[in-house]
Amino acid sequence: MRNYVIAVDLGGTNIRVALVHADGRITRRISRPSLVREGKARVIDSLLSAVEELYQENYEAPQGIGIGVAGAIDLKTGTITQSPNLPGWDDVPLQKLVKERLSFSAEVFLENDANAAALGEYWKGAGAGSTTMICLTIGTGIGGGVIVNDMVLHGADGMASELGHITVDPQGPRCNCGNTGCLEALASATAIQKSAADALRAGHRSSLKSLWNRDPDSLTAKAIADAAYDGDDPARRIYQDMGTWLGIGIATLINVFNPEKVIIGGQVSKAWELFIESMQEEISRRALRVPARRAELLPARCGDDAGLLGAAYMVFSAKETGGKELRG
Ligand SMILES: [Zn+2]
Repeated sequence: MRNYVIAVDLGGTNIRVALVHADGRITRRISRPSLVREGKARVIDSLLSAVEELYQENYEAPQGIGIGVAGAIDLKTGTITQSPNLPGWDDVPLQKLVKERLSFSAEVFLENDANAAALGEYWKGAGAGSTTMICLTIGTGIGGGVIVNDMVLHGADGMASELGHITVDPQGPRCNCGNTGCLEALASATAIQKSAADALRAGHRSSLKSLWNRDPDSLTAKAIADAAYDGDDPARRIYQDMGTWLGIGIATLINVFNPEKVIIGGQVSKAWELFIESMQEEISRRALRVPARRAELLPARCGDDAGLLGAAYMVFSAKETGGKELRG
């Protein structure tokens, strides 16, 4: 029986392809560089060859193929309308391109990668058992996915849940999107690095100074977290401030969506103890009492596999519901 799905995580750096079973087990993975600079055709070839490799190993066609991709998706046509991580990929009908070229017959499903990560956590991670949840993925930027009453929120153009671009400080720093004071510009790994560099430039005494002097690039969010765990004051303050900004954004999300769970993933979530207190404090201060009490704040559990699991879940759940539920 075809009880597995081929899940794809197509990012700006890597293409990851995996065999995912109906119980969430991943039994085989392939990862290769996306080589985005070599053009769309090359990336799609590489994606297809990895999918075919997994198919050949199993002899049986999968239940379907689920693809999570960094970009805005038109779900009706399975088209990537725009992608900041895949330059030049405007209006690419990826669903059709993949389906047409497969050597076997299978449905292909497309989803934005942050939504896929939210679905992965909802299915097999920290969100399991909830019906309404929010997932924030904090890395270089901040991605978001919102699940309301067991459905992914897509919006009119498939661009809902851009949670990183909520304004939390109108006077704040410029964001990549062109706005100022977005959550992403204040609470992402990039923002943490920038705050640390600013603190050092301003002459704050910190154990990070020697690291920074040797190589400014080594001043990563992780290095700053390590210093904070070792008791470095400026580093601790940076994570506390980051928690405050995050709390301001999440308080709004709690008031709007009344989620059972707010899940935080991505590399920065590993510094959980460094920002949870200030984040919680800000949420208590700003969110309404009933939804604030309801919302459980949790670190993500699926790690890098969240997107793959979510991409697989799209296929499994579409089979259950006749393809209606998650395709809007
Ligand atoms: Zn922005």
